[in-house]
Amino acid sequence: MHILVTNDDGIHAPGLLALAQALRPLGNVTVLAPDRNWSASGHVKTLDRPLRVRPAKLADGSDALTTDGAPSDCVALPLLGLLDRKVDLVVSGINPWANLGHDVTYSGTVTAAMEAAIGGLPGIAVSLNTAPGHQGERDYAPAAEIARRVAVKVMEKGLPRHTLVSVNVPYRPLEDIKGVHITRQGLRVYRDELVRRTDPHGNPYYWIGGEFPDGVPDDGTDFGALAEGYVSITPLQLDMTAYAMMDELRGWEWE
Ligand code: MN
Repeated sequence: MHILVTNDDGIHAPGLLALAQALRPLGNVTVLAPDRNWSASGHVKTLDRPLRVRPAKLADGSDALTTDGAPSDCVALPLLGLLDRKVDLVVSGINPWANLGHDVTYSGTVTAAMEAAIGGLPGIAVSLNTAPGHQGERDYAPAAEIARRVAVKVMEKGLPRHTLVSVNVPYRPLEDIKGVHITRQGLRVYRDELVRRTDPHGNPYYWIGGEFPDGVPDDGTDFGALAEGYVSITPLQLDMTAYAMMDELRGWEWE
């Protein structure tokens, strides 16, 4: 079993190290992660410039690879033959913040796992639901252990073609995690605000600012599971077709 581990926070992120260490007992782990933080970069395919891949070391002294490409490039390159050995499973994370509801479209963590699904491999994205305003270091050990258990299951059962799982772990000790809920995407409530400022030359510039996003903790959703202290596992598919709309659209006048 050859497991590719990547993330969107960069090669030196502590969540990546925790994930790689947790998965090593399961097989051969290759770490290939971006050389900088790509959080909220969405799904990227770098086509307009060359990609460099360089050797790197994780904080525990283990060998890794890093690239100036995006998280999804970190999956595409091995799938296209970068490594000597074929990859069997892609695990992305551990992101320090949850990826819930519509976050999955922004998330570099999740889109790396989507790239695996496009390439016909099982993909797992792992995110930690740290409280807004959390400062300083995090304990990734519980989420790493959950990631290991999910990886074992996915290796045993496989995933349907062009699907992935997004795992969100409550930020609490392992013994306080109540279990696992299989969930659907809930509703993220973004609280973005446009911040306008003026540069030293008198020209306007803009920040997307505002408060940390909220969410609606409905039963059966990713938000609901986390609010109750459960791990949320949301199966995602790349077919985003709104099937219920198709007949309605066919009924419009198109000529
Ligand atoms: Mn991130």
